[in-house]
Amino acid sequence: MKAILKNKKYARPCPSCGNSTVFDVQSIRSGVDCCDIYVECMECGYDPTKCHPGYRYEDVWGDIDYGTTYMAIACWNDAIDEFGYENDSGYIIERTT
Ligand SMILES: [Zn+2]
Repeated sequence: MKAILKNKKYARPCPSCGNSTVFDVQSIRSGVDCCDIYVECMECGYDPTKCHPGYRYEDVWGDIDYGTTYMAIACWNDAIDEFGYENDSGYIIERTT
């Protein structure tokens, strides 16, 4: 679902393209009675929670409404504050054997 924010100050600018007002709200079932709700940048598809699902908003029903969209934007902000911009490889994990 498309979410358009009325003010740029509500969301951090997308670290990939700078968009801070138009988002695509996603809801996916992540467990038997749990859904993850998060937003992707509508302009470029960037999702700062992609490799950090713990930063997605968890909701039992997964309905996308004003409240859950608000929480998903808050998660977007938290993830960008924490991780900045990451490419698709996400975590850089060094494995030693
Ligand atoms: Zn973007």
